[in-house]
Amino acid sequence: MTSSRVLVLNSGSSSVKYQLLDMSDGSRLAMGLVERIGEETSRLKHTPAGGASREWNGSIADHDAALKAVAEELSRDGLGLDSPELAAIGHRVVHGGKHFTEPTVIDDAVLAEIERLIPVAPLHNPANLTGIRTAQALRPDLPQVAVFDTAFHTTMPESAARYAIDVETADEHRIRRYGFHGTSHAYVSRATAELLGKSPEEVNVIVLHLGNGASASAVRGGRCVDTSMGLTPLEGLVMGTRSGDMDPAVIFHLMRVGGMSADEIDTLLNKKSGLIGLCGDNDMREIRRRIDEGDESAQLAFDIYIHRLKKYIGAYYAVLGRVDAVAFTAGVGENASPVREAAVAGLEELGLVVDGELNAVRSDEPRLISPEHARVAVAVVPTDEELEIATQTYALVKGSENLT
Ligand code: ADP
Repeated sequence: MTSSRVLVLNSGSSSVKYQLLDMSDGSRLAMGLVERIGEETSRLKHTPAGGASREWNGSIADHDAALKAVAEELSRDGLGLDSPELAAIGHRVVHGGKHFTEPTVIDDAVLAEIERLIPVAPLHNPANLTGIRTAQALRPDLPQVAVFDTAFHTTMPESAARYAIDVETADEHRIRRYGFHGTSHAYVSRATAELLGKSPEEVNVIVLHLGNGASASAVRGGRCVDTSMGLTPLEGLVMGTRSGDMDPAVIFHLMRVGGMSADEIDTLLNKKSGLIGLCGDNDMREIRRRIDEGDESAQLAFDIYIHRLKKYIGAYYAVLGRVDAVAFTAGVGENASPVREAAVAGLEELGLVVDGELNAVRSDEPRLISPEHARVAVAVVPTDEELEIATQTYALVKGSENLT
């Protein structure tokens, strides 16, 4: 029997999101999530393809119990993890540092390196490691692959990747710009080239991944040359709850004058800033609804969000020199037509124009929203990080099978 299924696991500190895909045609067989792991009120929601969702509420003590519960749900649909059809498990790993430039089959050395990177990804890498170890215990015989959020950005030149700080200090603490959302930027930049009927090598694309977290990237001929997130996902665009760029001296000021601790400032900038800090809401739907009712703080939050976005479009235009397409993706980018319209408004001289009617169309398909014959294509390209993780995992596993 040919094994063509890949289980994709995205393990957070208290949650596991999963999808089971059949890579013979890229179809989704099941998906779901376990949240609030370790609490009394854990929840598992499982949705088989073409079937109704099932929900389970109760206490799930740890990742091990969570994955066993997921395995049971999959078994009920005849998709058990013991099936010989399962080819591999692909893990989203947030931080791969400079070292991991490609998806990688996980062995002890890889685990050790992911562990070594914990100081630069204290929230994410420990959770990713727990997910990997749990999955390994469940299916020790199966290849497990790490797909890193940072990998696509490892092609950035040093001029973009380094901060202008003392080199010795930077190197000692591995301080540099790593970038995140790489799986999405890779997928969307490729899909944008496809939409234009070109190969990735032929086109320069600015990708705007606007979800709750948000990042921009400049992709030249399929290779990332700059991205807006840095050492951590805090840098860059205004996000749902993160500030993005600001004068780093704000932090010393808050410490010296505001009497705040490093942890308090970390929480302030990552969880209580961005849109939610500016107006109390981080959901763009709610912000648009309030703007329609004349709410001034929602309007100001929107304006600050757009101003930053526009600055990055301009910056990456300059970095690339020639831009073939600007692609909007993720929750806000795919759904919020007013964001897309406002982000390129006034950029006609750069060849960037959005057609109002095309922009208003709602669809799950990649599509152009710029007028025909526009100098720069403006596109909406839905991202699919799970499919990309599964594709990379499967290619790696099948490639190595063919070599042996
Ligand atoms: P993440 O993966 O970072 O959690 P998503 O890519 O799922 O985020 O994006 C979530 C965000 O997308 C929501 O917070 C909301 O602001 C926005 N969003 C989702 N649907 C819509 C919509 N129909 N219109 C406007 N914004 C939307």
